[in-house]
Amino acid sequence: MSSGPSTDPASLELQCVFCGEGIEDGEYDPCAVALIAKWKLAEQARSQYFFCHSTCFQQAAKTYPDIDLLRPEFWAEEEPGD
Ligand SMILES: [Zn+2]
Repeated sequence: MSSGPSTDPASLELQCVFCGEGIEDGEYDPCAVALIAKWKLAEQARSQYFFCHSTCFQQAAKTYPDIDLLRPEFWAEEEPGD
């Protein structure tokens, strides 16, 4: 009785969309980014996710050099409502 291909996230080998290398588990890795095409046209917009290294995303984000999600302080803060 087969249930099809494994979709266990722990067993997937992920490849970085920016550098092409494999992504090992790390402090923030693996990360995923969402590409939303036709973002201004809400009815037509579609999204696709890509895996990446946190460091590769940080290097590619030329206009946003200090990403909150990639700082330890962000994770130390409590979620609103907790
Ligand atoms: Zn990378």
